[in-house]
Amino acid sequence: MISVSGIRGRVGEALTPEVVASYAAAFGAWARGTIVVGRDSRVSGPMFHRVVLAALQSVGCDVIDVGMAPTPTIQLAVEHHHAAGGLAITASHNPIEWNALKFIAPSGLFLSAAEGAEMREAMARGIPRATWDCLGHVTLDDDAIARHIDAILALPYIDVPAIRRRAFHVALDCVRGAGATMMPALLDRLGCRVEAINMQTDGRFPRPPEPVADNLGELEDLVRRSHADVGMAVDPDVDRLALVDEIGKAIGEDYTLALAAGAVLRHTKGPVVTNLSTSRVVDDAAALGGVQVIRAPVGEVNVAVRMRDEGSPVGGEGNGGVIVKDLHLGRDAPAGAALVLQMLLDANAPLSRIISQRPRYAIVKEKLDRPAGSLDSVYTALRTAFAGAGVDTADGIRFAWADRWVHVRPSGTEPVVRVIAEAPTEAQARELVERSRSYLSGQ
Ligand code: MG
Repeated sequence: MISVSGIRGRVGEALTPEVVASYAAAFGAWARGTIVVGRDSRVSGPMFHRVVLAALQSVGCDVIDVGMAPTPTIQLAVEHHHAAGGLAITASHNPIEWNALKFIAPSGLFLSAAEGAEMREAMARGIPRATWDCLGHVTLDDDAIARHIDAILALPYIDVPAIRRRAFHVALDCVRGAGATMMPALLDRLGCRVEAINMQTDGRFPRPPEPVADNLGELEDLVRRSHADVGMAVDPDVDRLALVDEIGKAIGEDYTLALAAGAVLRHTKGPVVTNLSTSRVVDDAAALGGVQVIRAPVGEVNVAVRMRDEGSPVGGEGNGGVIVKDLHLGRDAPAGAALVLQMLLDANAPLSRIISQRPRYAIVKEKLDRPAGSLDSVYTALRTAFAGAGVDTADGIRFAWADRWVHVRPSGTEPVVRVIAEAPTEAQARELVERSRSYLSGQ
């Protein structure tokens, strides 16, 4: 599967060494310069890692190899080395049979649609290979993770001595992903007592690796057993963070950005940017901080670019992806973890109480077959049905009221339309989905 900022597939099916080599070489030929390479912990990671290094050398690119590392660490290393680009070998939260290449631009952001298209056009014209005397060289960078930790602790929003004095007790689940290379060291620097599970970095995920509440039963048990202040789960490439409260209940990854944003907005004001499908809990956090929410089309790079354009200090996605502009414009679970600890310190209250003091919503998500023909007539009918709502057409169509919204969006990768609604109760959210569905299936 080819997307704007990468390729992904099942190992041994669509994703072979030949395919990975072609795209890595094409990316190197397009970027023309030094490329930073890193990977998550997947079983297929070392194989594709060797393929990527050779492919980049073959087009004359020097490589800085950071080895196994979180995706945000690789993004930061691109910026640190002023590299021409980066390649992260990771399928993020996808199951074990998947792997992928993610292309990183010199800015440290993932490739934009225009950059991705440019690269694929160059690929179609043929990839120029280097002769023996112009092959690239590989050097190792063992300090990328240490630099990343230092950069987080240097953020003006993190009061390291105060967090250390509080000596938080943290339960941690790294799902045998790359998180184990960084999260324990970060939490140690923050003076935390850590009880951890799934810290082997062998990529043999013991459960579905997406850190959604349904997958965090083992971490919930660990929090209860160890009487931790908070449970933290990261996905295999450590750009998403989900929390478990001190009672041992996964609070849902929607809350990660809302809570982390609070720690930033205490110190600096500016809009929070998130995507059109993210929960209203982010709006409530922004309101507490006295700032606006700006919604960008779904896709990390869309949020990152909008943050840059709007001067937004903090943003991200409702899937647990927190972006802190002063660090870098990419989702960063370790930064999210430090901000959540700061927020817990500032609030001086247990996480369950903080959550119970905020408005609650229910989200309902449906995937419907995409009707034949244009969706414009559907959108027109929905505008009539939902007259009076605020309308946003940046990505499909989204209708918003004071306490609820519904987003109808054609998928970029499947012949389906996603319908997502959020409201104070599940029945109200479901009603918004059902009303939208009637126009989609009635066409
Ligand atoms: Mg990820």
